[in-house]
Amino acid sequence: MQNATTLHCDVAVLGSGPAGLALAAALAERGLAVVCVAPEPRRPWLPTYGMWADEESLLPAGAVAARYPKPRVWLRDDEGLTLSRGYLKLDTPLLQRGLLDRADAAGVRFLDAWAFGIEHVPSGSHFATSAGVTTHAAIVVDASGAGSTALLRDGADIDAHQTAYGAVVEVVEHPYREGEMSFMDFRCVPGADAHGAPSFLYVLPIDAHRLFVEETSLVRVPALPMGALKVRLEARLRHLGIRVLTVHEEEHCSIAMGRALPTRTQRLFGYGAAAAMVHPATGYQLATALRLAPEVADALREGLDSGSPHAAVRFAWDALWSSHRVRSWHLHRFGMAAMCTLDLANTQLFFETFFALRPSDYERYLDGTASPGELSMMMLRLFRSAAKPTQWQLFKHGVGAGRAALWNAAWQGASA
Ligand SMILES: Cc1cc2nc3c(=O)[nH]c(=O)nc-3n(C[C@H](O)[C@H](O)[C@H](O)COP(=O)(O)OP(=O)(O)OC[C@H]3O[C@@H](n4cnc5c(N)ncnc54)[C@H](O)[C@@H]3O)c2cc1C
Repeated sequence: MQNATTLHCDVAVLGSGPAGLALAAALAERGLAVVCVAPEPRRPWLPTYGMWADEESLLPAGAVAARYPKPRVWLRDDEGLTLSRGYLKLDTPLLQRGLLDRADAAGVRFLDAWAFGIEHVPSGSHFATSAGVTTHAAIVVDASGAGSTALLRDGADIDAHQTAYGAVVEVVEHPYREGEMSFMDFRCVPGADAHGAPSFLYVLPIDAHRLFVEETSLVRVPALPMGALKVRLEARLRHLGIRVLTVHEEEHCSIAMGRALPTRTQRLFGYGAAAAMVHPATGYQLATALRLAPEVADALREGLDSGSPHAAVRFAWDALWSSHRVRSWHLHRFGMAAMCTLDLANTQLFFETFFALRPSDYERYLDGTASPGELSMMMLRLFRSAAKPTQWQLFKHGVGAGRAALWNAAWQGASA
C-alpha cells in the first residue's frame, strides 16, 4: 500500500555506497522488496579503490582498471621485497555502475533523500526522509558509512584515522617495472623526522608516465594532517627521482578506523563502515562488504520467513558479527592501537618482522579472514621474533591501553 508520502517495503537500506548497494542487491535477488534511500544515490564515487587479486571474483565484470602481480614493500633499505599475492586497482565508475546495474536488475527502488528519525514497532520500523516520504519497512539497514549516528555501540569509539593525500601525477619517468606497485614504501624521507609519526608511499602505476601516488598514515590518534602528508609526498617523490610534470585528481582520504562495534541486540541492523566493518588495522573494507552480502541477505530472508522482523535482525547480526569475527575484530583493534604508538623506526622494524612471517599468516591478517586462534598464534610468533625495541613497545601496549582489547578478544565474542 502506497501513496505520495508513504512507502512500504520489506527492507530499507540507508546508503548507496559499496556496502549498501551490495546488500540491497543481494536482498532483492532473494525476492525481498527493497528500497535504497540515499541523497543522490547515483552520485559518482570518488575514492581510488584497491583490493587483492584473488578477491576479483567478488567484483562486477569490468571493474578492474589494472593488475599488479608484483606488489612491492620497502622498509629500511633499497632492496625491498615482493609479495606473492597480486593486487588490483579498481575502476571506480565501473565498480559503481556494476553494483547499480545489479541492484536495478534485482528490482531495488531508489529514493533520493536523507533518512532520519528511525522508530521501531513490533511489526517493523519507520523513518522520515528529507523528500517528505515516510518509509515503513520490516527491517531497516543502516549502511550510511562511517559517520553513522543511528546505531547503538558496545563501548566507545577511538578517534583513530587513516589519512592519505594522493593524486594522479604525470611524470617524466618512474622506477616501477611492469606489474609492480608500491604497497608500502616506509623508507626514510630525508628531512622528515625518523622519530615522528610514520607514513608510507602507496603507488599504483597507470602507464610509463602516469602514477596514482598516495602518502598514507596507516593509523594515528590524532590523525596526521593532510598538509603534512602532501609535503612528505612531494619530498619523497623528489628523493626517489620521480619528477612530476602535472598533478591531476587529488584525493584527500580520511578513514575512521576506531568505530566501536554495534550492539548486536538492537532492532536496527547495520552494514559496511557504519557497522565497524572497516578493518581496524588496515582501513580495507570493500572486499569484506562484497563477500558477506549474500550470507547476511540469506540470514535476513530466512529470519523474515520464519518469524518476526526482530528475529530476522538477530539472525543477521549473528551472521555478520559471529563470535569468532568479534574476537578477531578485537585482536585487529589491539593491533591498530599498538600501531598508533610506534614511531617510524619501530614501524619499520615491526613490518620487517611482519613480512618475514609465512605469507599465509600475514595475508589473512591483512584481509581480515583469519580466525581468532590463527590471529593469536600469528601475533605471538610476531612478538617472539620482533626486534627488542618493538617487543618492548608491544609489551607496554599489551599490559597498558591494549589490555581491554585482548580481554575482549578472549571473552567478549564468546559471550555475545
Ligand atoms: C578515499 C578513500 C579510499 C578508500 N580506499 C579503499 C580501498 O582501496 N579498499 C578498501 O577496501 N577500502 C577503502 N576505503 C574504505 C571503505 O571501503 C570505504 O570508505 C567505503 O566507501 C565504505 O563503504 P560504505 O558503503 O560502508 O560507506 P560509504 O561509501 O561512505 O557510503 C555511505 C552512504 O550512505 C549515505 N548516507 C549517509 N547518511 C545518510 C542518511 N542519513 N540517510 C541516507 N543515506 C545516507 C551516503 O550518501 C552514501 O551513499 C577507502 C575509503 C576512502 C575514504
